[in-house]
Amino acid sequence: MSIGTDKPVRTAEELMRRRKFAEAVRAFEDLLTGVCGSCSKGRECRAGCTSIAWSATGTVGCNPYCIRSLETESILDQVGCRG
Ligand code: SF4
Repeated sequence: MSIGTDKPVRTAEELMRRRKFAEAVRAFEDLLTGVCGSCSKGRECRAGCTSIAWSATGTVGCNPYCIRSLETESILDQVGCRG
């Protein structure tokens, strides 16, 4: 049996560790907030650099320094589409 890799699972402990890791990866979407919570790329990007997100917000799910987000806000400002 294998979970998430080509390496076979050899012990019950390893099986549980891999399952917990897979559950944590799947649950990450629930942690996305702020600009990342509403971002269409959140599933793939996962709030970018975890260190930057943590140092800026104290969470791992919101990255206020995302260049994509900042560029989008700038474009919306330029065309006058923000309230
Ligand atoms: S870091 Fe940027 S691209 Fe990634 S989820 Fe957040 S807003 Fe989206």
